[in-house]
Amino acid sequence: MPENLSVLEGYADFWKNPHALLNDVNNSGTGLIFSAGDSESNFEEPIVISPTGEEDAKSIAHKYGAELSIKEDSMIKLPFSKDASVSIRTRTYDFTGPGIEPVIKSGSNNVLSKLAGKKIFLLSIDLVNAYRRLMRGIEDKPHRRFLIVSKLGAYTLIPQFIRNRAFKKEDGLDDLREDTIAPVECLRTIFLASLVKAAESPVPVIGFWRKGKNYALAVTHDVETQEGMESGVWRLLGVEEKFGIRSTWNVPSDRYPLSKDTISKLAKVGELGCHDTRHDGKLVLVRPDEQAKRLHDCKDSLEEASGQSVKGFRSPLLQHNSQLVGILSKAGYEFDSSIPSWEVLSPTSLGPHGVGTVFPFISSGIVEVPVSLPQDHQLLRVIGLSPADTSSTLLKFSNWIGKLGGACVLLVHPDYEYGQPGNEAEYQKLLESLARSPACDVMTLGGIARWWKFRERIQWKLEDGRPSSDESRSDSDKAQVRLATDYNEQNGFTLEDAA
Ligand SMILES: [Zn+2]
Repeated sequence: MPENLSVLEGYADFWKNPHALLNDVNNSGTGLIFSAGDSESNFEEPIVISPTGEEDAKSIAHKYGAELSIKEDSMIKLPFSKDASVSIRTRTYDFTGPGIEPVIKSGSNNVLSKLAGKKIFLLSIDLVNAYRRLMRGIEDKPHRRFLIVSKLGAYTLIPQFIRNRAFKKEDGLDDLREDTIAPVECLRTIFLASLVKAAESPVPVIGFWRKGKNYALAVTHDVETQEGMESGVWRLLGVEEKFGIRSTWNVPSDRYPLSKDTISKLAKVGELGCHDTRHDGKLVLVRPDEQAKRLHDCKDSLEEASGQSVKGFRSPLLQHNSQLVGILSKAGYEFDSSIPSWEVLSPTSLGPHGVGTVFPFISSGIVEVPVSLPQDHQLLRVIGLSPADTSSTLLKFSNWIGKLGGACVLLVHPDYEYGQPGNEAEYQKLLESLARSPACDVMTLGGIARWWKFRERIQWKLEDGRPSSDESRSDSDKAQVRLATDYNEQNGFTLEDAA
């Protein structure tokens, strides 16, 4: 049970919500109760019950005289705001019957219902187990074929068999959807929308980014080859300098010779990140002590070459698992951006992979910033789009992520089309559109990580029934307290800035 509670606390922490009194915690008398599973409570406060599994749903239905209908694979789609929605494909437990009033519906699903005449609300989605299932996306288990090829040392064969396999996909673009890229955002929407519906007063939350900014953008590059370093880097940099964009340059320390001048320049105009030592596709295959050695060596080399400390990491081939994140933390890294929100094809597991959220999260003390936009390699080379079609796909998704308030993380390789001669105008057009909105906070990955850690530390006190932040000094002025005053099926949340 305490583990279920910590998942619910994770939802409340994401919104920075002081209101959610979870499970049987009931110590302030001002809030409501959010319960993972049926609760024996008999409180005066409203209670929202999220069923934990089939047996629990059955006992809830029995207790409240409801009919239960279980569907294995429901598509839930809900508005976040009037022009952006969130979706998830998941198992649902719908409660219906006389005396059960639907409060939030998605198609034929009763996402949230209420017992007539009572302050008891029932969710059709198991917010605890659905979240756990999605977070397993942190792991990306190597496929047998990947193991065989990498043992042969034939790294150069990998792109070939990925291409052959991808060729058979009818259209990888169809697989990039709201419910694949950010199903976690649908669960978080359901959590907050339930609070708003059940609470008898506005629900305070803290804005995701600095006051005046609604979403974030980080421009990132993995420099794969010497040629990319010697030519593509300068083309991309030339465009970025026009917009004053500081980007993150992830560099392998031992794959090609590094020039101290170039490395220092990249650290100065933007930010350097480590991209393994040899970049041979074996980082997740070698023993933990060798992983640790690679992570230390890469960091030492780049710090020595640049004269600056290097705090960030991106894994080659976006290889990822929780063990690697733990080792990064011990090796002195502060942030990592190695897990896609969702990607059509992982070269390592040979399947789709991702963590299903477009927001940073903290794991083993490391701020993980998901690669939320489809990376250029997948759009250009795996799916086979032109640079112009790649740009419009990126803009479509960044527009949506921006409306959810997420972090748009762009990954452009100087070695591929955008870094090649003749494509500067295309890259310029892309950046101009991505960074155009004054509500967009353009940061390096390190900037995003530092902000997210700061936001994470903000605490609430309930004084005189009003929320206040513990971080009363200058930094907390940058955070925006907002009030969720309503949620409805057309326009999603009504969020107002608090004074
Ligand atoms: Zn790479």
